[in-house]
Amino acid sequence: MDLAHVIGALADCYGPRGWWPLPSRGGGEGRKEGGYLLSPSQPVGPGGDGRMASARFEIAVGAILAQNTAWRGASKAVAAVATAGILSPTGILNTPDDQLAELLRPAGTYRRKAQYVRNLAECWPEIDSAVPTRQYLLGLTAFGPETADCVLLYCYGVPVFVADAYARRIFSRLGLVGEKPTYERARAYAEANLPREPAYLAEAHALLVDHAKRRCKARPVCSGCPFGSWCPFGRSIAVKEA
Ligand code: SF4
Repeated sequence: MDLAHVIGALADCYGPRGWWPLPSRGGGEGRKEGGYLLSPSQPVGPGGDGRMASARFEIAVGAILAQNTAWRGASKAVAAVATAGILSPTGILNTPDDQLAELLRPAGTYRRKAQYVRNLAECWPEIDSAVPTRQYLLGLTAFGPETADCVLLYCYGVPVFVADAYARRIFSRLGLVGEKPTYERARAYAEANLPREPAYLAEAHALLVDHAKRRCKARPVCSGCPFGSWCPFGRSIAVKEA
């Protein structure tokens, strides 16, 4: 089974995911129609009206807040910032450090993330003035490869693959790219083996994350998994337990 078939099987199993979730519009973890721009997943894209621009900023904030934590906490923090009426570059910059950090507490390491979000707000006019390059984003504070790729894909529709820890775990267990692939190796593999369509890549990322959370966890729940009959990792567990 190649990667495109893996994504197809996940789509059959879970249905459209509709990422990126926008907590300010009611979208928390999981699929809630009101919280997404379009469904299935549809990147925002450059330009557009104020609603599109505000969605891009919210996605970038969410991508930073999701670093090293579960989306549940990050989404609560985004929702808290939105409820406080400061989910904009100006709103962030006009908010005192302590108040901003307190709002971001659910995302963990909230004082550092408050500084990251403030840095994002300062740079946002330049970031959002055109479709940024990956190299440019990687030069900014708080942007590692995963955050940069989330922003490129979901904010600007650049056809990159977000090779987060969930995707790498599944790739590794399915034996697609060897054991414990690096971020860049997994990204290159996926981009070489999937259609370079932003909406497709967004949906693929969301489906892999969902599969990793529901079944392919640290301790996987292989019973009922669509890959159970041929997944090397799943089969090795079955042999050990037999
Ligand atoms: S069979 Fe188990 S280890 Fe393999 S992909 Fe499915 S849940 Fe993950």
